[in-house]
Amino acid sequence: MSDERLRMTPGPTEVPAAVRERMAEPQPNPDVESAFFDRYRALTDDLETIYAADADGDPSDADRDVVVLGGEGILGLEAAVASLVEDGTRVLCLSNGRYGEGFADFVTDYGGEAVTLEVPWQETLEADPVRDRLERAADEGEPFDVATMVHCETPTGTLNDLEPILDALDEHEVVSVVDAVSSLGGTPVPTGKVDVCLGASQKCLSAPPGLTTCAVSDRAWERIASVENRTYYADLEPWRTAADEEWFPYTHLTANLAGLEAAVDRLLEEGLDSVFERHERAASRCRERAADLGLETYPEREADASPTVTALAVDGRASDLQQAMHEDHGIVLTTGLGDLEDDILRVGHMGENARVDRVERTMDALEAVLE
Ligand SMILES: *Cc1c(COP(=O)(O)O)cnc(C)c1O
Repeated sequence: MSDERLRMTPGPTEVPAAVRERMAEPQPNPDVESAFFDRYRALTDDLETIYAADADGDPSDADRDVVVLGGEGILGLEAAVASLVEDGTRVLCLSNGRYGEGFADFVTDYGGEAVTLEVPWQETLEADPVRDRLERAADEGEPFDVATMVHCETPTGTLNDLEPILDALDEHEVVSVVDAVSSLGGTPVPTGKVDVCLGASQKCLSAPPGLTTCAVSDRAWERIASVENRTYYADLEPWRTAADEEWFPYTHLTANLAGLEAAVDRLLEEGLDSVFERHERAASRCRERAADLGLETYPEREADASPTVTALAVDGRASDLQQAMHEDHGIVLTTGLGDLEDDILRVGHMGENARVDRVERTMDALEAVLE
């Protein structure tokens, strides 16, 4: 069966043959065979290497565990909040986009008190306002317990520089949650400064949707143990010891784990530096081609653009362009989300699709469609 479509979407991304083939192999029974746990532990070790590949190439941080949950990326967002937030927990939700904003709803659902600190969606998060807000809260005797934020706001193609913000949160002993779903494995993520850092299988890792990855610090595990929670499937607590005790709270998703294992093998074989450079090259070529076509990219400053996805400002034409790209050129793109649905056309160049030739083919087609 041949499928010639090019899916330049910001997740799910193309799943390479090696990943699909590994998923089709027989798998050990995850409830009774210890071979399964050996593989799970090897996978989380490899994921630790990917998580630890921050800008300075810091070695893997020992007081941090990676766990893999069975469920799409949203499960990780909900599990982090469900496990860290209880009645009255004060949570600072930093937002410059759709996912950042969405965290506040989870917080409220789990009994927490969400305070959203927002900037316009074409900008990125800055440390100074966060520092001011933390100081004010401390002065008022109502400090924050937890803060949430997003590394790459996929719907608007922005990448936040989180390190200075994470330093400020750390000074105030606030437990940080970072959604790095669309950046992990495509660009360095500052995991060493994050308490709960979330990823997912279907973005830069190029495995199918179905798994969430979480890097959890000791400080976060301590808070998780102390929080009164009201969920089973989304509770992170049993995962702290699951791999060692060889007992998962539910039957794990064996085929998905095998696929993620193959995907991670590919990344490590290529080398993370090469993987990150490949994303940078694809992204900068995409922005160059967009500029040649007279299209503006969504974040105001080029420096704020993500290396994993480009959001093009197309003013009310996104659905028409998306449809023409699909029907006339076999190329799948996505529009914006929410109020910006028809004003943004997004080209995903993440994971397997972070290749200049695929960007060229996409932008050649877009050029033809625009004419
Ligand atoms: C894709 C993505 C998720 C996962 O959830 P969806 O079901 O695809 O919405 C979470 N956060 C970010 C930033 C993402 O890009």
